[in-house]
Amino acid sequence: MKKFSLSLFLKNKPWLHSKEWWKSPKVIVGTLTVFLFLGSGGYYLASSSSAAYLVINGEQVGIVVNEKSGQDLIQSVLEEKGASLGVIAKTHDKIVFEPARINKDEFQPVTEEEIQAKLSTYIEAGAITIADQPTFVLPTLEEAQKLLQSYQDSFNKPSDSNQITEVSFEENVGTQIVEVSPDKVLTPEQVLEKLKQGNIQKIEYTVQSNDSWWLIARKNNMLTMEVLAANPGTTLDTKIKLGQKINLEKVTPYLTVVSTGTRTDQETLPFDVVSKTDSSLSSGQTKIAQAGSDGQKDVTYTYVQKNDKIVSKSIVDEKVTKEPVDQVVAKGPQKTVYVASASRGSGRVSGLGWPLNSHINSYYGYRSGSMHTGIDLAGHLGDPFVAAASGKVVSAGWGGSYGNMIVIDHGNGVSTRYAHSSKLLVSVGESVTKGQTIGLVGSTGNSTGPHLHFEVMINGDTVNPLNNL
Ligand SMILES: [Zn+2]
Repeated sequence: MKKFSLSLFLKNKPWLHSKEWWKSPKVIVGTLTVFLFLGSGGYYLASSSSAAYLVINGEQVGIVVNEKSGQDLIQSVLEEKGASLGVIAKTHDKIVFEPARINKDEFQPVTEEEIQAKLSTYIEAGAITIADQPTFVLPTLEEAQKLLQSYQDSFNKPSDSNQITEVSFEENVGTQIVEVSPDKVLTPEQVLEKLKQGNIQKIEYTVQSNDSWWLIARKNNMLTMEVLAANPGTTLDTKIKLGQKINLEKVTPYLTVVSTGTRTDQETLPFDVVSKTDSSLSSGQTKIAQAGSDGQKDVTYTYVQKNDKIVSKSIVDEKVTKEPVDQVVAKGPQKTVYVASASRGSGRVSGLGWPLNSHINSYYGYRSGSMHTGIDLAGHLGDPFVAAASGKVVSAGWGGSYGNMIVIDHGNGVSTRYAHSSKLLVSVGESVTKGQTIGLVGSTGNSTGPHLHFEVMINGDTVNPLNNL
């Protein structure tokens, strides 16, 4: 080659016939150029090597030693992405490797982090669908199916006394495979937690006239404590104003498990309290002549249950396993002064209504060692209460530990008492009709807070109002 190029020089350049042709400046420059070219080329080949560009969706992401090492990097990114879910992630991205030459000294291979930033990954996960909408995504279809099963099981404890006939979902529930980004996938524990919590919606409620915490709870099908909990810093005593905005957190279940079955429960038969006159006792004195004891019965019923609440129940069998024993209270001969003028009779009660639309704070019967002669109905200071039935007011005024109280005689030996009132709206001798407002709730007499103490008396002796309402 060198010889050939020299002969070309010889042929075309007459000055080459001179014996000193090599001293020509053109020859020297040309020759040096040839040597320089060969020298740098050799250096280039020695200090560089072949590599590959990693190209994701048409974009050069970086350089890898070769296609094999690039594939390994991609694979470990996919494994990493699915690791917490126990699966390997996948990608729909177009990945190609293009030939590259790299300078060995400056070679910086692409990192897993750089690939992660550019590569979109997905996993084939198992979704729980509600009304055909994928709602919760689990790592696999099997896990989605298993979760639905264990959610159903969580509400049902089959046993000898609880035979379950059928379990189903009220909603249209299914499972399906979905392609999702790994960070959208939940663990079975997380899904179970969400299902148990339900769908929490925050809503604002505007206080209406006559509202109380209790009434707001009742209107919204919630418990009073749930309403208070949604309004931090409030208690039952916190006053609310008309038009005031308060928070309610309404929880609707995502899924409703409907179970039907037959169950047998043991129920307590509470003992009755009866009184007898004992002339050896002085007026107003009482003593327990016979201690009462509760009885027991087995009640078998079929039921329909939605999640953890029984929504319908029908009794198929009742068996008393232990009879209750009456509590007999001996009393001094004189009747209490407050009902002295009440009628006497058969004691047949019918159509007694609730004097206050409220819940019971304390029941009739022996409470921490002493007899509670009525029921305590929760109320706020000033709440109006009404006559339980038509009748004649036989007492209206101060009654010692009863505070301001009213006794209404309904005839036939039946009378009712309303105690601890803040204000009495009727007076002795007045005729009242059922449902007529007769006083306002208060906390007078022996009382720890505003409530209505309500008694039903038959021929002067108190009976359990709940047996007569
Ligand atoms: Zn009471």
